[in-house]
Amino acid sequence: MMNRRQFVGAAAASAALLSRMSGAHAAPAPYDVLIRGGRVIDPSRGISAIRDIAIAGGRIVGVEPSILGTTAETIDARGKIVIAGMIDLHTHCGRARDVAPLTLSDGVTCWVDAGSNGADKIDESVANAKAAPNMGRVLVNLARTGILPEGDLMDISRADVGAARAAIERHRDTIVGVKARLSFNVAGSNDLEAVRRAQAVTMPFNLPVMVHVGQNVSPMPKILELLKPGDVVTHLYAPEPNSILDGNGKLFPEVQAARRRGIWFDFGNGQNGHVTWDMAERAIRQGFLPDTLSTDYNANSRSTGVIDLPNIMSKFLLLGVPLDQVVAMVTSNAAKVFPAFRDRGSLAVGANADVAVLELREGMFEFLDNYGGKRTGSQRLFPIATVIGGKRAPQRA
Ligand SMILES: [Zn+2]
Repeated sequence: MMNRRQFVGAAAASAALLSRMSGAHAAPAPYDVLIRGGRVIDPSRGISAIRDIAIAGGRIVGVEPSILGTTAETIDARGKIVIAGMIDLHTHCGRARDVAPLTLSDGVTCWVDAGSNGADKIDESVANAKAAPNMGRVLVNLARTGILPEGDLMDISRADVGAARAAIERHRDTIVGVKARLSFNVAGSNDLEAVRRAQAVTMPFNLPVMVHVGQNVSPMPKILELLKPGDVVTHLYAPEPNSILDGNGKLFPEVQAARRRGIWFDFGNGQNGHVTWDMAERAIRQGFLPDTLSTDYNANSRSTGVIDLPNIMSKFLLLGVPLDQVVAMVTSNAAKVFPAFRDRGSLAVGANADVAVLELREGMFEFLDNYGGKRTGSQRLFPIATVIGGKRAPQRA
């Protein structure tokens, strides 16, 4: 079912398409952008084929084997991969004005700042989201101070439910949930109480909670028990102690059960403590893949094991996940998590013209986990071009 906005968008797009096909009497209106000859992978519609994509008026107006017509700009995508603009659900783009533009050049057209700031400084995150060239949304950190090197929630009085609710009230258009960091060096033994308070914050607004797990004091099943459908677990492959695996390397049945009741599991690459190759491989062998891939992007991510979202996707190619499925994790799957992105992550006619062009290069590429573990892969995705709202974004510097 289309919602009203999608329907109006689709109707406008087909009107534009018809006016272009009316042919003989009037010259067809030019497209703004034609993306030619790429492999279009759109898991939302089950498409993985060579297609042209026509864009006009900020919308996708055609996805066909061959599209004729004049265009203001052509992107030659032959030999490249063309996907919906990517959605990165765990970044820190809200921290400073200059971070979001970097991700846009990587093909990321939507991002979530995952709790850089709490109630005290949330106005800064929101202002940075609103100034971003891509679509930014924000999770308010449960701790009113935001992220602290000494541990946001070591002092549980920082988990001020009233202050967090007031922050959400002020910014209903930008804040899409609450973030709680639960590791032993962030929350200590306050982890469960932190989740309870995060749920208390979101209750009047019916918003999700994102929990950062890994090396928690409490066992994973105890944490999952406190989550509701729609909540998000980030850093799903964080290693022991108290990971998604029991002490013997077996996936807790409670983890699968949580997924069945609608809890999302996000990758959250980051830099320290969030993933080992061993954890990822053990979980994947037991069929437990992330729903979504994210970078945990920071100003210094270019020079760490993150680099960019296409590099994170490449790690999953190395781990044996098929390309189409990896694409779903940053487009159609990610679009389902926060309502703000429900009309994104798709290349359907009528959709917002947010597009990422990537190149899958063959060679020898080194990939890192968060513990100095190196793996060499034979393929890596590179960002080539980004279109946002029907306009081509500046190329990566
Ligand atoms: Zn983070």
